[in-house]
Formats: sequence, C-alpha cells, structure tokens
Amino acid sequence: MIFRQFFDSISSTYTYLISSGKGREALIIDPVFEKTDQYIKLLNELDLKLVKVIDTHIHADHISGIGELRKKTNCITLMGENAPADIVSMYAKDNEKVKIENIELLTLYTPGHTDDSYSFLMNDRVFTGDTLLIKGTGRTDFQNGNPYDQYNSIFERLLKLPDNTFIYPAHDYKGENVSTIGEEKKFNPRLQVSSAEEYANIMNNLSLDNPKLMDIVLPKNRYPRMKFEKN
Ligand code: FE
Repeated sequence: MIFRQFFDSISSTYTYLISSGKGREALIIDPVFEKTDQYIKLLNELDLKLVKVIDTHIHADHISGIGELRKKTNCITLMGENAPADIVSMYAKDNEKVKIENIELLTLYTPGHTDDSYSFLMNDRVFTGDTLLIKGTGRTDFQNGNPYDQYNSIFERLLKLPDNTFIYPAHDYKGENVSTIGEEKKFNPRLQVSSAEEYANIMNNLSLDNPKLMDIVLPKNRYPRMKFEKN
C-alpha cells in the first residue's frame, strides 16, 4: 500500500494520499489548495490515478484543494451529506463504505467541531479530521460546532475503536504526526473528563481567536449549497 502524509506549514494541515500501489487508483484526504501541484507531481511520479478526494469537513483555516484537484484530474469530490459545498460530487452518509479498488474507508459521522465533520476508518487507522487531534480536539465555537456532539462523537464512536488504531488528524500544531486511540484515551488532556458537561465546560472556555484566514477561506470552501435529495 502507498500511504503518504503531507504537511502544509501555513495552516498546519495534514493531507493524506492512499493507494494500493504503483499504477493503481488513489484517494486524497483534506488537500490544501496551494499544495495541489505537489500532489499532482507525486501522483505522476508514482503513476497513480486520482479517483476520489475527500474533505473531512468545511475548513475554516485554509482553502480546500478538492475543487482544483477535480478540475485537474476529473476525480470525484466527496464529503458528508450535510456539507454545504456545491463542489461535492458524491455525498456520503454515516456508516457507508468509500471504495477505491480493494481499499475501503468506512464513514463515521462525528459532528462537534462542525456539524458536517466526518471521520474515515481504514483498517488499522482512522482519519479524524478536526474531531480528535493529537492531545487535543477541534474547537467547537463556530460552523455549528457543538461540544456535546463532539463529546458523543469522540466517546461513543472514536474511542470505541481498538486501542491500537492509529489516529491521523487534519492538523497538528506541535509537530506530532500520528497517535493511537489508546494513547489519546490516556494522555489527551481534554478527554480526562467524567461527563459531557465537564467536556463542554472546557470547550466553552477556550477563548480562541478566529482563524486568521477564516473570512476569506469560508466563502471559498462553502459555495452555495447544492440541492441534495435524501433517498
Ligand atoms: Fe477544521
């Protein structure tokens, strides 16, 4: 399997490329607009065909690369069903399989950081977006974020995965690049709580500044919402 982690130092974003091997189909998670040439270069070098790109949620701190990658490669753009972005060509629901060839990612609806946040489980690893970070969790104070939803997403879904499951988040600000469910259970300071109320209390008192580029980035990533019919 080919598995690569890219880092954008401006927004501290991690992007992931997955493929079963040279000459095969590839998938990218949480691409950054300014880095699309770097992804395309690697795809060409490894003779990979990009077939799907995923955003775990609408990002507020960087411009997503999914539109640019679709333009350049004609790939499918995938997000959770309630993502307000018309650049999306395939909407996923909770507990669905996203496939490229023999690789499967299971969708986990994990709202809280935003109401459109999804995580993606692939065998021994889970891509947690900004729901669960390494020794931290994504803020819950805008884009319909909700600390109670996030508590449920983390405690009822993500922490129910086996302890040795690797966690690959969408960001890290301290130079960490991977963790495990077991480590986060023990050492993530925000998870050392005994109730949703206690967790919400922490999240509601973070007093964070808005992301620097938020006002520029959100309209670009959102686009007018495409009509989505539930079936
Ligand atoms: Fe985010």
